Amino acid sequence: MKRDTIVANATPLIPSAVAIIRISGEDSLRIAKEIFTLPKDVQERRAYFGKILDLDKTVLDEGLLVYFKGPKSFTGEDVVEIYPHGSVPVVKKIIENVVKLGGRLAQPGEFTYRAFLNGKIDLTQAEAIAELISAKTEKASKAAVNILQGKLSKQINTLKNKLLELISLIEAEINFPEDVEEIDSKLIIDNLSQVKTQIEKLLSSYKKGSIVKEGIKLAIVGRPNVGKSSLFNAMVGYERSIVSEYKGTTRDFIEESLKINDIPVILLDTAGLRETSEYVEKVGIEKAKQKIEEADIILFVIDGSEGFTDEDKKIYDEIKNKTHIFVVNKADLIEKPLDIFEKFDNIVYTSSKTYQGIKELEEKIAEILGITETEDEVFINLRHYNLLKQAVEKIEYINSNLDFLLQNKEILMLDLQEVLSYLQEIVGQITTEDVLGNIFSKFCIGK
Ligand code: GDP
Repeated sequence: MKRDTIVANATPLIPSAVAIIRISGEDSLRIAKEIFTLPKDVQERRAYFGKILDLDKTVLDEGLLVYFKGPKSFTGEDVVEIYPHGSVPVVKKIIENVVKLGGRLAQPGEFTYRAFLNGKIDLTQAEAIAELISAKTEKASKAAVNILQGKLSKQINTLKNKLLELISLIEAEINFPEDVEEIDSKLIIDNLSQVKTQIEKLLSSYKKGSIVKEGIKLAIVGRPNVGKSSLFNAMVGYERSIVSEYKGTTRDFIEESLKINDIPVILLDTAGLRETSEYVEKVGIEKAKQKIEEADIILFVIDGSEGFTDEDKKIYDEIKNKTHIFVVNKADLIEKPLDIFEKFDNIVYTSSKTYQGIKELEEKIAEILGITETEDEVFINLRHYNLLKQAVEKIEYINSNLDFLLQNKEILMLDLQEVLSYLQEIVGQITTEDVLGNIFSKFCIGK
């Protein structure tokens, strides 16, 4: 299919040492020859140093150019990359000239879209490029690279092949009933159960993936003066919230972003949760309650030197059904752990004064989140999740109607094809304009 030639800056338009301009399409080389001093016979995949020319042949800049002849290029088409100095007017002028010579400004994600259309990458890999570019942490970037390298595609393709095998056996039985033996129903049951188990494993990676990619919210909760603000500061690492000797000074709540074990965390210091008549305090408390609802994990703080007081118990009863860590603070003031705390799970002794236990607290958080150091983990995204969920539901439907379906193999085949279609949608073998538009419009220009 013939496509027009597109151009865009692949690096941001800001003053920098070097910029990259990418041109893709069958006119790439012809246009490049008009704006760059190239030899007649341009070799592919070779860096040329030369002058970048304006349309009147005056020199705009000097820099490098590389020609990637299709299909051995990112998009699969003829691609030219020009590396001028990162001068904003120069970069703009080069792009303008490419457009005047027959190119067109690329849409967001259009280079990657062409790579997808030309079969250089599948849809999961295209999504991984966007995820890699926007990754906030090393863990998130590693997870994206794993998908970019085809680790998710490989798993999906294995499942697809299993289903295809079943479908073709059933098809043969339907079409050639005299020549082909009836399929052992155990084979169908076993294969489907293997596919289901694998899909469920992938589904379970979604939650962890969103923790790694998006991060979590932690709320510090406890009665006044137990050391919440001090703990917040100790965790954030610098003085930010007001630490006071008087009760009830954290009127509202204070938020800070940090990273725990390379997981993005929003830490909230809430107002003391207690009955109060004072209006301002009340507003703070209401907001705190709302924030507690949104939190993924609650750090429930008590003052170790005072033990587990009735007021602590009241607050604890409010939060105990949410995922929480029992933080016994002011551990520097106590000689030995108090018996009363033994009944709590997930307990950590801390001191915001001496920093004792802060590291253990962070390790406990990582442990609760199930974040371990595994290199080749694959996390699915929401689109994959929804499709896999539909696939599992269809398999469950097949399982619960198996007797009927084994008697009516044409219908069974259609159901299996539906399961297959969800997997094909994940890798982009089946797509709609809407789905593609949604994925690629999230890219920035030049990707
Ligand atoms: P909040 O009302 O729960 O936010 O408590 P603050 O963080 O304002 O602390 C109340 C008081 O306890 C302050 O005087 C802090 O210096 C003190 N404090 C907080 N954490 C510790 C700790 O780990 N050890 C000791 N000895 N004092 C602490």
